Amino acid sequence: ARRFFIGGNWKCNGTLKSIEDLLSTLNGADLAKPLPEVVVAPTYVHLAWVKSKLREDFAVAAQNSWIKGSGAYTGEISPEILKDLGIPWVILGHSERRTLCSESSQVVADKTKYALDKGLAVILCVGETLEQREAGKTFDTVAEQLKPVAGALSSWTAVVVAYEPVWAIGTGKVATPEQAQEVHAYIRSWLTDNVSPEVSDTTRLIYGGSVTAKNSAELGSAKDIDGFLVGGASLKPDFVEIIKSAP
Ligand code: 13P
Repeated sequence: ARRFFIGGNWKCNGTLKSIEDLLSTLNGADLAKPLPEVVVAPTYVHLAWVKSKLREDFAVAAQNSWIKGSGAYTGEISPEILKDLGIPWVILGHSERRTLCSESSQVVADKTKYALDKGLAVILCVGETLEQREAGKTFDTVAEQLKPVAGALSSWTAVVVAYEPVWAIGTGKVATPEQAQEVHAYIRSWLTDNVSPEVSDTTRLIYGGSVTAKNSAELGSAKDIDGFLVGGASLKPDFVEIIKSAP
């Protein structure tokens, strides 16, 4: 069985005060066992501090990592640096980085390969824009994003795939459980055909885009939805309710 996975992507948010408040909410939450896997992704500058304060049954993720190792790359953070600090996870290929930082699917694949080689686990994000969806290109878009990754990787055991339709991110326009399930099922069949039935069966496929405590239970009950990547609601006590709604 695939362990349910709940990620909180804090994006470019947080003050010392707001993070202290959030940490006390998360650390004080009384959660039923067995817990889903919970991973929060603060900004780089908050990462080591959050890791040192966060309850031990949650983990932390970086929101990005460099395509190569440590060296003369001003402003970048390598997987080696993250690994040295004991950061286990990194989010790669988020649509905000694909769009705002011009990261191609090949760059995302190369980053994924490099981070995995250095021992990090990767939350790999894919998803179509509204324009692509309306043009009937949702599956093609996701396949195009996955293809270079499948070409680069020899193992998927440390990969979680996040399906995040761009039109649902930060818009309050959540995909219906049927819409999300349809694409998750497609990704699973794509993995069967292009990687292996075993990888398809064991890889967690999580949904992101306007997940809240109001819609999480229904989304989480869909057959191929193995968790969430939560943005806005992960900065609020809502995140605890989302964790509690895990099947
Ligand atoms: P929202 O939950 O704010 O829509 O963001 C989703 C997301 O981009 C998570 O990575």
